Amino acid sequence: MSEQDRMGFATRAIRVGHRRTGEAEHGEPIFATSSYVFASAAEAAARFAGDEPGNIYSRFTNPTVRAFEERLAALEGGESCVATASGMAAVLSVCLGLLRSGDRILSSRSLFGSTTMLFGKYLARFGVATDYVPLADLDAWAAAMTPRTRFLYLETPSNPLTEMVDIAALADLAHAHGCLLVVDNCFCTPALQRPLALGADLVIHSATKYLDGQGRCVGGAVVGDRQRVGEEVFGVLRTAGPSMSPFNAWVFLKGLETLALRMDAHSRAAAALADWLCEQPAVTRVYYPGRPEHPQHHLVGPQQRGGGGIVSFEVAGGRVAAWRLIDATRLISITANLGDVKTTITHPATTTHGRLSAEERAAAGISEGLVRIAVGLEDLADIQADLARGLAAR
Ligand SMILES: *Cc1c(COP(=O)(O)O)cnc(C)c1O
Repeated sequence: MSEQDRMGFATRAIRVGHRRTGEAEHGEPIFATSSYVFASAAEAAARFAGDEPGNIYSRFTNPTVRAFEERLAALEGGESCVATASGMAAVLSVCLGLLRSGDRILSSRSLFGSTTMLFGKYLARFGVATDYVPLADLDAWAAAMTPRTRFLYLETPSNPLTEMVDIAALADLAHAHGCLLVVDNCFCTPALQRPLALGADLVIHSATKYLDGQGRCVGGAVVGDRQRVGEEVFGVLRTAGPSMSPFNAWVFLKGLETLALRMDAHSRAAAALADWLCEQPAVTRVYYPGRPEHPQHHLVGPQQRGGGGIVSFEVAGGRVAAWRLIDATRLISITANLGDVKTTITHPATTTHGRLSAEERAAAGISEGLVRIAVGLEDLADIQADLARGLAAR
């Protein structure tokens, strides 16, 4: 066991990845450089031929980006990490790295909207088809496997209804069929859930959300084994170029340092807010994994440490009531982003899920009265007071 493997989570989040330069700096430097200088023509040739390690060009590697990759890999428990320009660039790089024309993806139906578009509109043009199943229905996953299925793809908990699925059970199913399991771990982060330890093969992140934590930068990452991530996904990045900028990597390094503290605080605040929402007469239903009535509540604990920071609920009175509630808030930000210290509120039916037809939305359980809150780190009493005004305004 290496020294790093013996470190606790918080220590890795703060210490891994930074090797001091000759300046003995305490903070991680930002390497704002597009290329690197070789000592000789022979060294340049050796680097390009791959005979000698070292930096060539920042589309391929950059020391600040590498520090972020090493730190996130250590937190997820993966051999390799590749940082990308956005979360969607991470999803695309995995698809380009692993799929061939004729392959099929078997995916949860509850997906980030752009991921659904990527699979359905763009990958389909290149002969990759996608089959969809309800996230929590293990029998449906098993029944939908085909000989051409290359990987299973999911987000747990889902957005915005916080449904969950047993990752270990799906990893077993995938492996029994010679497939991979890919998990978008954006909502939990490794502070709450480590899919690789549960048997998943690849983890995808939108670093834009909780890894940053303060809503500053767009970025993403893929974590997994050295062959698939370090070779195949890295090969896509190096060739096609959706790389992370060194400045963004530095911001994400700072974000990781407080990840464990923030995720626990988000979880605690969201759990308290979910309990409070359950007591409001105008609220007809609350979706939160930490609530005992949540259908996959049993997975909180064994799979996911804490309920996470996202709470959704339905207000009586449909869209009119939901919009009135949203418009009456003064503190909470009306924005679709999440994973920020600032609390945000969204009406999924007309924003994140607005591109679906009314029938598709109904099938997905996205009602007109549904409101999603990404609970931030303001004082809970102030968040509640803001929502109380909104609930009274309906
Ligand atoms: C935001 C998000 C993405 C996409 O990430 P970007 O950084 O916006 O490209 C993917 N999956 C989930 C679950 C997300 O919330």
